Amino acid sequence: MIYQGIKFKTKIINKEIPKHPGLEELKYWCREFHKFHLAPPYSGGSYGNLSFRVKKGEDSFIITGSKIGLKEKLSDDCFVKVLSSNLKAETIFISGIKEPSSESKLHLAIYRQRKDINAIFHGHCKKILSNADRLKIPQTQKEELYGTMELVQRVLEILDDKSFLIMKNHGFISLGKTMEKAGKLALEIHKKCL
Ligand SMILES: [Zn+2]
Repeated sequence: MIYQGIKFKTKIINKEIPKHPGLEELKYWCREFHKFHLAPPYSGGSYGNLSFRVKKGEDSFIITGSKIGLKEKLSDDCFVKVLSSNLKAETIFISGIKEPSSESKLHLAIYRQRKDINAIFHGHCKKILSNADRLKIPQTQKEELYGTMELVQRVLEILDDKSFLIMKNHGFISLGKTMEKAGKLALEIHKKCL
């Protein structure tokens, strides 16, 4: 897959850099994802995006910025707070100084649908994809282009109460009530792969 930038408009509501007690933990999981090759680097970024819900009962979340290489020591300004979007998510409202991850629409849709989920970690791992059938990991029906509403639809139609799923020919999504749960689940599944 080739990364061609984000597919929505970003409207910066304010330039406040995210501050949140959960940010250090998110940075930890970004490093872990890099270490275990769950978010492989490309020139200028990493294939993967990680987020957590800012506050119970609200849909806003803090997510890795677009074109952030997860291997680097990440500073707070590498992250963006997504506040909300317009109806079709063509415009995403944020607080921060970077563009939010290209998959922000996907994260937003999942947080809206799954109030029980407070962390969403998306990664790319060939090993997990090729072991999907053997490990009986649910997969979306059809391959869709990253960052599109079609991709969001494919995920929502199989989401139910699942904690781990694969976007066909693309990557995985690990969900958790906490970041620790989402992170450990991804590592656990990675370990089971041959
Ligand atoms: Zn992806």
